[in-house]
This record gives sequence, structure tokens and C-alpha cells, in this order.
Amino acid sequence: MVPQWDFLDLLAGAAAEEPNFTLRMNTRVTGLRRNGDRVTGVRFLDENGAPGELGASLTVACDGRDSVVRQAAGLRQREFEVPMDVWQVRVDAPPSSQLRSSRGDPHADSLKGGRVFAHFGGGQVAVTMDRGTYFQTSYLIGKGRDAELRAHGIQWLRDQLGALFDWDDEVTGAIASWDDVKLLEVTFGRLRRWYRDGLLCIGDAAHTMSPVGGVGVNLALQDAVAAARILAEPLRRGTAGTADLARVQKRRQLPMTVVQRSQRAEHTMISSAPAGTLDGDRLPVPVRLLRRVPPLRTVTGYLGGIGIRPERAPAFARVSSGARSH
Ligand SMILES: Cc1cc2nc3c(=O)[nH]c(=O)nc-3n(C[C@H](O)[C@H](O)[C@H](O)COP(=O)(O)OP(=O)(O)OC[C@H]3O[C@@H](n4cnc5c(N)ncnc54)[C@H](O)[C@@H]3O)c2cc1C
Repeated sequence: MVPQWDFLDLLAGAAAEEPNFTLRMNTRVTGLRRNGDRVTGVRFLDENGAPGELGASLTVACDGRDSVVRQAAGLRQREFEVPMDVWQVRVDAPPSSQLRSSRGDPHADSLKGGRVFAHFGGGQVAVTMDRGTYFQTSYLIGKGRDAELRAHGIQWLRDQLGALFDWDDEVTGAIASWDDVKLLEVTFGRLRRWYRDGLLCIGDAAHTMSPVGGVGVNLALQDAVAAARILAEPLRRGTAGTADLARVQKRRQLPMTVVQRSQRAEHTMISSAPAGTLDGDRLPVPVRLLRRVPPLRTVTGYLGGIGIRPERAPAFARVSSGARSH
């Protein structure tokens, strides 16, 4: 529920306390260095556009779904079909009289504090997230239909969101033009093998996640923690090889596969929403169960937030262990 930029700042701040960590902002990896088949680091363009090279005993591709590093290594994901793309817009925080829960009841107070609500209505699905002064809203559209739908006037989108969330024209009027509507293209797939000699892909670079369920960031982080835990010692000894990289994939394959299976099932459930034909009275059974049996939300919250194979930082990486010099 945390805004991504705050979370990234938190990570960068914590990492900066490590004596051997360097963060190079505005530096773009453009390709790989190699020695024969072995990856030995990256090529990059720095913040001034000047080319450079960085040698590494292990290169970790954590550059997301369009990973340049993955492509440069010749690794290709098997892609799965997805029914939707996402439009993202901001509106000013609506007055409390215009806040309601996804079940339709007035819910002003409990919406405060970064809560997220999915709304099913008029055959569609949208999610809005309370960011205090504004609401970040994601609206599902059919895959590849961005240009076609933008041919409607912007009032069309305002009306759709107004109907979904009970927002009046004053609230939706904050969407001044289509320039305020950002297209986020959804892709979904996975690598068969996450590594090559000297290179490991993790997160979306290894397995591109769909937004449904909001679990891709957690999986990526858990990959990173598992990789650090498994590889710290071999890297320190200078012996990290492909067998160690394979151990990382083996550790993370099951939770990734389970989450992607569940996302594929969720895609099927909501596939009629982008077409506007999702029947609000015949919502998928899991959605109806979640609405009727609130304790189930704790279970899904646990599965999304902690997952089936939680990762924990090893003792040597914890600030309180006093073992930072390890
Ligand atoms: C529309 C949409 C909405 C989503 N919503 C959610 C959600 O609410 N919750 C959730 O958990 N997941 C969500 N996901 C999935 C989630 O975004 C990913 O699973 C997650 O971000 C993967 O983390 P990552 O660290 O592997 O990659 P990313 O978060 O994509 O991070 C990659 C990083 O690499 C950097 N980078 C890229 N290329 C280069 C380069 N050449 N050189 C240097 N740096 C580079 C990027 O700037 C970025 O900082 C959503 C996905 C989509 C498409």
C-alpha cells in the first residue's frame, strides 16, 4: 500500500548505510560485458550520456519486465496471454460523502489510511487507492484498446469512473484531458531458466507479473532476499557458479508458479470487465466469498503479503545483529 517512490527511497536509504554499496542514479545499462560465454559485468550510459563499463563477478538482472540485461543475455520469456491493460489517473480526494466501500455501503472513515478498494460496477472493474490528498485510480481496459478508447472524449472516462465510484463531476473533473491518463501495458510471462554463467535474473526480469492481486513487488523482493542469502557466502569465497544460481531459481520457482497460476485464474475471472460485460450480480465465486466471509480476507492478505515460501534476511544482514562487517 506504500507509494512506490517512498518505498524505493527507503531501500536506497537503508542500502546507503552499507559500506560497500553504491547507487548510480540516472545510469542506464545498455548491454553486457562478456568473457567467452561468461557474463562479466555491464555496459552503461551515465547521467551525462557518457558510456562506461562495470565489471562484476555476478550480474543480477533486476531491471523489470522489459529487462535489457535479459535480452542482451539472449534469454526469452515464455509469454502468456493477458486480457487487459491499465489506465492510471489521479483525482483529488473526494469528500467523505462520496466514499463507499466496494459493497456499496458508506465507508468514509475506514477508507482513510491508504486503503485500497476494487469496485465492480456497470460491467467493469476499477481499483482506487487513498493517497491522502488524492486517489490513485486504476481502470482496466481491453488489451491493446488504448488508442481506440481514447477516441472517445475525456468526459466518457469521467462518466465511467463517476459511475463506478459514485464520484461527482467536481471529483472526476480533475482529469483534464487524455494527457492525465497514463497507459500501463500489462505483460505476463516467465523464463524457463533464470541464469547464465555470471548472470542471474530475478523479479519481473525472470517472471513478469500481472498487476492482479498486487503481489509482483513482494515476489521480486523475496527473490532478492533469497538470492542474497544463498549467494552471499559463495560470492565472498569467490566461488559462485551456475549451480548456486540454480539454487536461487529452485528456491523461488514454486511461489512464483503458484502466484502466476492464481493470476491466470484471476484473468479468466475478470476477462469480461474490460469489455464492460462483467455481470455484477454473478461475480466469480471467490470474489463473492471474500465479500461474504470477511475472515477470508485475512487469509488472502497473508498469501499476498507473506506468501507460501516467505524469505527472511539472514542474521548477518540484520542491523540489530551487530555483524555488519561480515
Ligand atoms: C499496470 C501494473 C500495475 C501493477 N501494480 C502492482 C501493485 O499494485 N502491486 C504489486 O506488487 N505489483 C504490481 N505490478 C507488478 C509489479 O510492478 C512488478 O511485478 C514489480 O515491480 C517487479 O519488480 P522488479 O523490481 O522486478 O521490477 P521493477 O519494479 O520494474 O524495477 C525495475 C527497475 O530497473 C530499472 N531499470 C530498467 N531498465 C534499466 C536499465 N536499462 N538500466 C538501469 N536500470 C533499469 C527501472 O528504472 C526500475 O527501477 C503491476 C504491474 C503492472 C504492469
